Amino acid sequence: MTAAMRPEPLIFEMSTPGHRAYSLPDLDVPKEKLADLLPANLVREKAPELPEVAEVDLIRHFIRLSEKNHAVDVDFYPLGSCTMKYSPKINEAVVRYPGFANVHPYTPDELVQGSLQLMAETEKYLCQIGGLTRVTLQPAAGAHGEFTGLAIIMAYHKDHGQGHRNKVIVPDSAHGTNPATAAMNGCQIVQVKSNERGGVDLDSLKEVLDENVAALMLTNPNTLGLFDENIHKIAEMVHKVGGLLYYDGANANAIMGLARPADAGFDVVHFNLHKTFSTPHGGGGPGSGPVGVTAKLVDYLPVPTVEFDGTKYYLDYNRPKSIGKVKSFYGNFGVVVKGYTYMRALGGQGLKEASEDAVLNANYLMANLKDAFYLMYDRICKHEFVLSSKWQKEKYGISTLDVAKRLLDYGMHPPTVYFPLIVAEALMIEPTETESKGTLDRFIAIMRKIAKEAETEPETLHKAPLTTPVGRLDEVTASRKPVIRYKKEA
Ligand SMILES: *Cc1c(COP(=O)(O)O)cnc(C)c1O
Repeated sequence: MTAAMRPEPLIFEMSTPGHRAYSLPDLDVPKEKLADLLPANLVREKAPELPEVAEVDLIRHFIRLSEKNHAVDVDFYPLGSCTMKYSPKINEAVVRYPGFANVHPYTPDELVQGSLQLMAETEKYLCQIGGLTRVTLQPAAGAHGEFTGLAIIMAYHKDHGQGHRNKVIVPDSAHGTNPATAAMNGCQIVQVKSNERGGVDLDSLKEVLDENVAALMLTNPNTLGLFDENIHKIAEMVHKVGGLLYYDGANANAIMGLARPADAGFDVVHFNLHKTFSTPHGGGGPGSGPVGVTAKLVDYLPVPTVEFDGTKYYLDYNRPKSIGKVKSFYGNFGVVVKGYTYMRALGGQGLKEASEDAVLNANYLMANLKDAFYLMYDRICKHEFVLSSKWQKEKYGISTLDVAKRLLDYGMHPPTVYFPLIVAEALMIEPTETESKGTLDRFIAIMRKIAKEAETEPETLHKAPLTTPVGRLDEVTASRKPVIRYKKEA
């Protein structure tokens, strides 16, 4: 597309020579001296071709772009497994305190006692929520936490003369990061089937249990939003053959203050601060995936740990069995500050109520939609549930993609689609606790309207979205031939 045809110019196309959003003071080093001060190969011959725009044009450009995006601050965002809850603005206020925002990671421990205390307290709260002994805040995301947690498990096995253990069991409902984590740790991935209630099939599990099992990775409630009633039995079976249990707690939104993974037999847990603990995510922004362990795995945690000697906090690097560092310095500290603020703002009772409301909201939606869309596992759900467009597909040729795209026309973000893989035409819906009954009722009405449209005007659904800045994109070309770099037109 040429620049003239595009509805919005790119920032480069808005460039006018000499326009500035910000002026730097004049150089106080004489130009001719620069050559002596800088290595010749680092001195530019000509200025970089950056866009030249005035502040007002710059602001308008990015505000206009931002208004084209859907966000949780705009309307409902029921993206299952992603916990797109509202992020309270107090988190942003606290993370901007100069003492947190401007601190340098090399500042001596004595001068950052507040930051160390905040890390130690965040660790303590997560330990309480998970029933764990210690937690590291270093991993930068859920997937990174999984990698760290499994590396800890592998180090434990090796340390106990069990270095041969290389099998990691994952259910067929698992999040894609679980098998990826196993592969990144050099393990063999073994899949187990789900049973008719959406939990782990015990016979299928029994078949793959042997002395080579390193771990079972489980999400509970799983990606179907279902709590596995056999969890104690599963833990017993895995532990019996010497394997450990990994809890994918990316979405702990159904369990806070209600069920502690360690009580159910899990040895390692990761949390996503950027889901359960309300810090914003998406668009590749910073995350935080703390990993907690039970007593027998504490020695293997990454360095440094944050310790308290009775009068002051300090960092402990002297941990010979540690798996080492997994991230520079202390992880994404700003995200930790936001998660901490959220926990302090709600308190223990508040976190429990958040979980109860998240579960209530999900069940309210499920009960009001299950006659309009097929529900494969018809039982009480936790924080999310999975519908399917199977009926619409069979009767009217309407796919889940059509339904998802049509939701955009009504101003709502679609649910997660085509996941988990074991439900055909899946629509995975997670309302979170932060939505009002009014919003939930509006979503129900819209979904029911779309179900009706599937019957009466299927063509509209095939063409949706009709009201957004761009319509249906060619996803294959977008992923196979992505244009991610601006090329100046000659
Ligand atoms: C989001 C999620 C992950 C991965 O978390 P990231 O921060 O995106 O890496 C892992 N497991 C489950 C169940 C998730 O929902």
